[in-house]
Amino acid sequence: MPHSYDPTNIFARILRGEIPNKTLIETDHTLAFHDINPQAPHHVLVIPKGAYITFDHFCAEATEAEIVDFYRTAASVCAMLGVSLGDGGAGYRGITNAGGDGGQEVPHYHLHIVGGAPLGRMLS
Ligand code: ADP
Repeated sequence: MPHSYDPTNIFARILRGEIPNKTLIETDHTLAFHDINPQAPHHVLVIPKGAYITFDHFCAEATEAEIVDFYRTAASVCAMLGVSLGDGGAGYRGITNAGGDGGQEVPHYHLHIVGGAPLGRMLS
């Protein structure tokens, strides 16, 4: 079944400027902003500007430029938050939920970057 993107989802509205957000980084293809309901001292969402629903949808259909920009931006977020091991940080967790079984609430692909405190050994 082809992917069916809902352009009324809240992240699409953020990308259209209809809802404010606390932007950390914006590039040609990617937006990183603070989660409105943080689950840890640092909780940032990284989203592509394109209409992709899930991780696999993005990886299968985005252009190479979009994919490289997305993950480089995610790395920049880790650096800005000071959680990157390469900068002497203490680490973080990257999470993406997909669909009903994955617990995805907003149907626009997003990577949660969560850190700033020990997160335990749970997957999410
Ligand atoms: P879950 O809510 O189960 O983590 P998702 O993986 O779809 O499901 O995550 C959606 C995330 O978007 C949540 O962490 C939520 O706090 C965040 N969120 C929802 N609305 C906004 C908003 N307007 N600005 C920033 N973050 C938001």
